[in-house]
Amino acid sequence: MSTDLGLQSHYPPLIGGKFRAITDASFPAVDAATGEQLATISRGGKAEVDAAVAAAKAAFPAWAATRPEDRAKLLLRVADWLEENAQRLTLIDAHDIGRTVFEIPQDYRSAIGQYRFFAAAILTHDGYNHAVPGGWAIAKREPFGVVGQIIPWNVPAIMASYKLAPALAAGNTVVLKPDENASLSTLELTRQLAEIFPPGVVNVVPGYGDEAGAALTAHPDVRKLAFTGSPQIGRLVAHAGAERLIPVSLELGGKSPNIVFPDIDDIDAVVDNATFASTFCNGQSCLAGTRLFLHDDIYPAFMEKLVKAYESIRIGSPLDPETRLGCLVSEKQGLRVLDYIESGTSQANLATGGSRVKVEGNDHGWFVEPTIFETSNDSRIAQEEIFGPVLSVIRWNDFDTMIEQANDVVYGLASGVYTSNLRNAMRTADRLQAGQVWVNQYVNLLDGSPFGGFKESGLGREVGKDALEMYTQLKSIMFAEQVPPPFYV
Ligand code: NAD
Repeated sequence: MSTDLGLQSHYPPLIGGKFRAITDASFPAVDAATGEQLATISRGGKAEVDAAVAAAKAAFPAWAATRPEDRAKLLLRVADWLEENAQRLTLIDAHDIGRTVFEIPQDYRSAIGQYRFFAAAILTHDGYNHAVPGGWAIAKREPFGVVGQIIPWNVPAIMASYKLAPALAAGNTVVLKPDENASLSTLELTRQLAEIFPPGVVNVVPGYGDEAGAALTAHPDVRKLAFTGSPQIGRLVAHAGAERLIPVSLELGGKSPNIVFPDIDDIDAVVDNATFASTFCNGQSCLAGTRLFLHDDIYPAFMEKLVKAYESIRIGSPLDPETRLGCLVSEKQGLRVLDYIESGTSQANLATGGSRVKVEGNDHGWFVEPTIFETSNDSRIAQEEIFGPVLSVIRWNDFDTMIEQANDVVYGLASGVYTSNLRNAMRTADRLQAGQVWVNQYVNLLDGSPFGGFKESGLGREVGKDALEMYTQLKSIMFAEQVPPPFYV
């Protein structure tokens, strides 16, 4: 199998343009469904991170001095390579993390879009300039230097692109740590990055969070940190940044409300959307619409269709093109999801699902039935991020109470609103505390539209041009025609 996927048997880190491990430690990359070992990966630690940061630091002055056009050309080569290799990389991810071959190609379309968007955006991105009496003032955007980036496992291609594309476009050099559960496609991309970028501009150190990740966040030569993952680790990264007073951007969890008004035109279409919103990515998405607020007037009819839709989701091998729900990334994640389901059964009405499913030939995989609970917003399953195919349905009839509940979680990443009434759409969008509001759709991440969270869902914005601001700092330079008298203002 490894030969079909074009995988190497072992992946060392990329440090200063060379693939080299400093220590011998490694860990296996395992097929999430079958348990088969796909490759071994160097388990980077402090030594590798030190070397990678030193390489990135050495490469920074020359890279920062390149013209944006030249950086853009290299990013476009990354996009072209991803496009040519998307099918193979899709298969690698399907094996590595258990998501379906039906769904992963969208990750690659999105990732390719990021490299192309930032290649274009950097050409027009700058500070400002204006004339002042007897001179000129400009504010120029400059990169920070070495950026440390840490990503999770759920959508590796997208996560790597959200981090690498804007940071490199802006002229920073990077040390990226992929997730230990989902490193393979990023490490395959890394082989190509080594061909495209000058040595040291991109360095990739795979490994565990408390080893390579912690060493990267603590390194004194890292000038900015960017992290996507859980709020618990996000806090550690924020603390590490605070210790050295460097900027930290965070993309964290979500428990997003998806709100259905009784005036929807097409109930079947909304049922399909609500199903997708809570089960894509096998439910392992920070964006998932996991709290469905369903109006009283349509509750019974909608629920009947929703349960049918959930029960018709085809669970199976991630490699089968007909599969719509693969397996969770690991046993740890499987046990976590089942624990939430168990706690839900004592607090809520289980409308469908709730069990682990065995899929022949994929015994290692943690396949969990898509699960619906009818519950209240204050239950544990409605408050905490589960990261599995588990939906909490909450009944509503009063607009103000519903909005209050929709906002009554620590998160504020995404949200959905389904209505045929413009006023309902506008007043709901205005009052939701969320970085994304999708009206009559769910999960539409356009290249260039800002993405990020309110409240504990994060700090900063990716995807749009704001990401370039996050990866640059402004320098004001004032020119005077003649040396002015002292205290001139
Ligand atoms: P996680 O926080 O456990 O791990 C994320 C990354 O942090 C991994 O690379 C891990 O190795 C690293 N890490 C772990 N401990 C560390 C430490 N002490 N120091 C530095 N790095 C460390 O998260 P996860 O379980 O892999 O991912 C799930 C979480 O990510 C969910 O909460 C989800 O909502 C969130 N997520 C958010 C977004 C977003 O854009 N907002 C996208 C995807 C996932």
